[in-house]
Amino acid sequence: MKILVPVKRVLDANVAVRVKPDGSGVELANLKMSMNPFDEIAVEEAIRLKEAGIASEIVAVSIGPAQAADTLRSALAMGADSAILVTTDATVEPLAVAKILKAIIGQRSPDLVIMGKQAIDDDANQTAQMLSALLGWPQAMFASKVVIADGTATVTREIDGGLETLKMPLPAVISTDLRLNTPRYASLPNVMKAKKKPLEEIEAESLGVSLTPQLKVANTAEPPARKPGSTVGSVAELVEKLKTEARVL
Ligand code: AMP
Repeated sequence: MKILVPVKRVLDANVAVRVKPDGSGVELANLKMSMNPFDEIAVEEAIRLKEAGIASEIVAVSIGPAQAADTLRSALAMGADSAILVTTDATVEPLAVAKILKAIIGQRSPDLVIMGKQAIDDDANQTAQMLSALLGWPQAMFASKVVIADGTATVTREIDGGLETLKMPLPAVISTDLRLNTPRYASLPNVMKAKKKPLEEIEAESLGVSLTPQLKVANTAEPPARKPGSTVGSVAELVEKLKTEARVL
């Protein structure tokens, strides 16, 4: 079984996000970029399926600038077998990403796609759903448990008020939620080995997908600053403040 894992290069989750003065987006220049955390979970899940003898091959794919090769090398160091970089310097919206992934899937014929539920930069939470619709494949979003057996995926997903379990035939698209697993760190020897693993580059334009934006970001703004908190000396004082200052009692 071949698994395709799309991985996006995003601003590192530990970097404090600063909005550009003109509100056109957030500062990215000279800041640490990393693999989208939900995509790390997807790579980890694919590796666990390979270690369990269920998957035989893991292909990581990223759409973005030349530097997204670093993100792919991270996936290779974790345990992916090969990588595809679809190069473009344009901002690629979820629908275009889904169409590019569909084109790659047409070329590589994976049995399963495991991807993040959302990229932490734009928080779109759209690409996996769009990809499944474009392919006509079943989807299980926000997976917290994945079991693959006899050409069937059994996926437990976190929904409001509980857990839902779906069964679906492969090929299928699964998106990962936070509690699916804890991604491994790549060891130094594996980082070295990853440098020799195959990484193919394809120009996005060659796939015949329009990258023309359909969305316009009207504004990006910082959340309003919060007032500083204070320590109260007693429960009585807390109750008094909740009544007179916060006026919630
Ligand atoms: P989104 O719909 O943008 O929140 O992204 C959901 C998931 O789609 C991500 O976690 C990635 O797995 C995948 N994805 C989105 N954009 C890209 C990209 N440029 N390259 C590779 N995968 C992507």
